[in-house]
Amino acid sequence: MSAALLDGKAVAATIRAEVARDVAAFRQRTGTTPRLAALLVGDDPASAVYVRNKIAACAEAGIRSAEMRLPGDAGQERIARAVGELNDDDDIDGILVQLPLPQDVDRLAILSAIDPAKDVDGLHPMNVGRLAMKLDAPLPCTPAGVIELLQRSHLPIAGEHAVIVGRSEIVGRPLATLLMHRDATVTVCHSKTRDLPAITRQADLLVAAIGRPGFVRGEHIRRGATVIDVGINRVEDVTLLEELFGAGSPRLARAKGKGFALVGDVHPQEGAAQAGYLTPVPGGIGPLTIACLLGNTLRAAVRRRESAGRRPPAPARPGPR
Ligand code: NDP
Repeated sequence: MSAALLDGKAVAATIRAEVARDVAAFRQRTGTTPRLAALLVGDDPASAVYVRNKIAACAEAGIRSAEMRLPGDAGQERIARAVGELNDDDDIDGILVQLPLPQDVDRLAILSAIDPAKDVDGLHPMNVGRLAMKLDAPLPCTPAGVIELLQRSHLPIAGEHAVIVGRSEIVGRPLATLLMHRDATVTVCHSKTRDLPAITRQADLLVAAIGRPGFVRGEHIRRGATVIDVGINRVEDVTLLEELFGAGSPRLARAKGKGFALVGDVHPQEGAAQAGYLTPVPGGIGPLTIACLLGNTLRAAVRRRESAGRRPPAPARPGPR
């Protein structure tokens, strides 16, 4: 058996086209165009690529953007001041602080400084609380992308046993909330979980959000389960690449040519052999994260400019919830 691949790129393209259509309608109604500001601190090359991709996706959807860069040693106060400036700028509808922030920076303090109405990542404590209480709130982009992919692929959620490996604030935890809200039975695993394979093998829906290449092996997956691989890991080690892709595979040849490959948290060969459905890496959840960011930016603009500061009624989401 070989898993059917869930085409995150195609689903993301559909969402982006819907957002572009709604942005054009918003512009017609209001005479304004949504604008996203991305704040990038330091010179982490992966973060720079993520921000560049997000800005390019904005342009394609007709959303204006601004990139603000600060040096890695800018410090807590300077970063908070930059967030404050973006909060005060009426021309900015959404603020994205690219994570990770430098180690000496208090991430929670920075995320808390973002105006909750402009919080397009849904990470402000107030929005986290609103989401937990099932109130209208921006959905964190990666978990929202997972839900969009499942729903638009007509895969069941209600009644399914979903096991999430990883409990981070940006992926595992909010995804557990979203799946619970959709009537899944949710188990969350982490580094202290005992006998992980015994638990993950119970999953109808297994989500890997760990940050370790190829960590989820065949023994973790019930045959035929749906497996969502959130992980994105850059691997340069040729021995590991051989183990992950198989000697003589075209993927290994491409990786050797480039000097690296992006690999998920699920072992690509064993995941494909055991799962019923599987998200590829790259081309799975990554593109959906960006598509959901665009949707959140549009909704922030609609709320700010058409709902006169009121929260509800919520503007339509770009797709089924
Ligand atoms: P974090 O490092 O914040 O969290 C990792 C989680 O995995 C933690 O909860 C940790 O447990 C758990 N974990 C680590 N080791 C083990 C283990 N041996 N067994 C079980 N659980 C373990 O990572 P993120 O959530 O930020 O990211 C996870 C992955 O997803 C990364 O590869 C990242 O690059 C990717 N990512 C992809 C995105 C996309 O758009 N596709 C967006 C965001 C992230 P504990 O809490 O106990 O430490």
